[in-house]
This record gives sequence, C-alpha cells and structure tokens, in this order.
Amino acid sequence: MMRQRAVCVYKRGISKHSTYMNEEKIILLSHGGGGLKTRQLLDNLVLPALGIQDNVEMDDAACLAAPCSRLAFTTDSYVVSPLFFPGGDIGRLAASGTINDLAMRGAAPFCLSVGLIIEEGLEMSVLERALKSLAAAAGEGGAAIVAGDTKVLERKTGDGLYINTTGIGIRRSGVEAGVANAKPGDAVLISGSLGDHGVAIMACRGNLAFSSELESDVAPLWPMISRLLDVAPGVHVMRDPTRGGVAAALCDIAEASGVGIRLREKYLPVKPQVRSACGLLGLDPIEVANEGKAIVVCAPGDAEPALEALRAHPLGRDAAVIGRVTEKHRGMVIMETAAGGERIIEPPLGENLPRIC
Ligand code: MG
Repeated sequence: MMRQRAVCVYKRGISKHSTYMNEEKIILLSHGGGGLKTRQLLDNLVLPALGIQDNVEMDDAACLAAPCSRLAFTTDSYVVSPLFFPGGDIGRLAASGTINDLAMRGAAPFCLSVGLIIEEGLEMSVLERALKSLAAAAGEGGAAIVAGDTKVLERKTGDGLYINTTGIGIRRSGVEAGVANAKPGDAVLISGSLGDHGVAIMACRGNLAFSSELESDVAPLWPMISRLLDVAPGVHVMRDPTRGGVAAALCDIAEASGVGIRLREKYLPVKPQVRSACGLLGLDPIEVANEGKAIVVCAPGDAEPALEALRAHPLGRDAAVIGRVTEKHRGMVIMETAAGGERIIEPPLGENLPRIC
C-alpha cells in the first residue's frame, strides 16, 4: 500500500532553521506562535519524536494517493488525566483510539493527523515521550502520520497536553460491519476482559493501594481485527466499548439494529483485580471504559472461527462469547445474572469519571 510521508504541522512558509535552544526544557508560549520558535519545536522535537525525518513538506495539506474509494474517516480528541498511566499514556491512547474506530468499520488504518494543544510550561521531555509513544502505536496499527498542527495555550488555561487525531482507513472489500447490522440469532463476542482502562486510570488517579497491579488495555486493534476478518469477513457489527463500556456499546447496537441482546454475566471476562476495584469504587465493570477491546456480533456459524481468530492474537487471548441477539426485547439489553436472575442493562447516564480518554 502506498504511504504518504508528507507533514503539514506548520502552515506558513518560513525558512527552515536548525538552531536548537538547548537551554529550553519547557514549552513557551512562543513555541505556538507560528514563527521561528514553532519551527524549531517541530524540527527538533515533534517531527523526530513522531519518527518523521525525511520528505517533510511544510505545506497546507498532505496530498494522499488513496488506493481505493472505500474510505473510512474518523476523529477523536484525547484529554486523559494523568498523561502517563499504568499500561499507557496520552500518545498511545491518541493513536490507538482513532485506529480502533477505523478498525471497527473494517478499515485498515491508512493515515493519521496529529493536532497538539500544549500548555505553556510543559516539559519538553514529557512531550517527546508522549509523541514517541504515539508514533509507536501508530506503527503497530499500520497508520502513517501525514499531517498535524501545534498550538500553545497560556499557563493555567490547559492541563499539560491535549491531542486530537483524525484517521483515514481503507475498508476491506466485502466487509460491511456497522452498528445497525445485528440480526436475531447472532452471537455476541468480546475480545477480552472488561474495564481495564477505566479502572487503571481511576486507581492511579486516586492513588489507590492496588493501582500498580492494574494496567490499561490501550492498544491498536487493527492487527487482531485483520486476522478476524480473514476468517469471518461477514461479521455484522464491530464496536470498541470505550466510554460507557460494554453497556453503552451494546445498548447502541440493540437500538440501532432494532434487536434485543441477552448477555450471560458468568461469561463476561473480568480480571479479579478489576472486579475488586469496581467493588471498592461502586462501579459495574460492564460500564467501565476499555481502550483495547472489540465487541463482535456475527452469524452463529461465524462465532467459532471468529473466537479462534481473536484468541490466536495476544490482544484477544481472553476472548469469549458473552451473549446472543434476540428477536424479543427489541432495543433492550438483558443480562442473565450469575445469581440466576435477570436485569436490564441501561446505557450509563453520564460520565462516571471525566478525562478518562
Ligand atoms: Mg468507537
């Protein structure tokens, strides 16, 4: 696949200047001014950290030679706090989140843009770490970084670093997965354990005693989804259960597809430390955010090969069939509880924790 390597991080033509102010360890307002200091920040930190060192065009837009007309397009902004957390950081999250939204439409990530909003005073070393992590995750997901922008806010008007990424993907031919395509009789699969990202963030933010044992699952899913689509190209729905967790994602599917969904609580994979943290924090793992999981809804005949393909990938080791799509209870998600009862799963009302992604 042809990859473009053009970057338009800075959009006014000024001559390249290689003098690096070595004494500067923090971001200054002038780094966002669009002049020489911005160019120095790009040349000396942003572009090298993102792994972009050759063929950089400082033009107004990257020109892409997309190899087909089946494109997927998505954008997301990342404001997670803290910037670095067990298992990941804002850079890995910013690449993975957008790659995963493309992957859920059966689209191979093609390119990403990276928009940086930086608070004056952020340490250069922190920015560099986050960007290197972003570039590594983009590489794992198969996406080239082709465009970007940098802005600097005055001190105390931001919180270190916010990142927006926009992605274009090439949809796999024959794949028509979409949120409205679930059919009665379909199997509902999850690629791994619930709630790891949200609980890891909450635990480290609250400085809870068990925080070191919990890691976010943040990861780019395309390599795993690509293998899934090799064996089950006809999957009906794929959805990454991020904010609002599996509960919100399944409620979206039930409503959009006009079907019911029945879950078996005992089949839901939940790590013991996540279960106990949720107990302590008064949360239900089904409502907690994930950043490296996929819900897959497919015809019953595809369920076994799909499960095998997920489990064959390291990110899908704990994949499980967790329920099925029904004709009854249209628009509703019902959980058969471990105790033998039933309860309705509602979409979470609001944000159980802001700044989680
Ligand atoms: Mg999504």
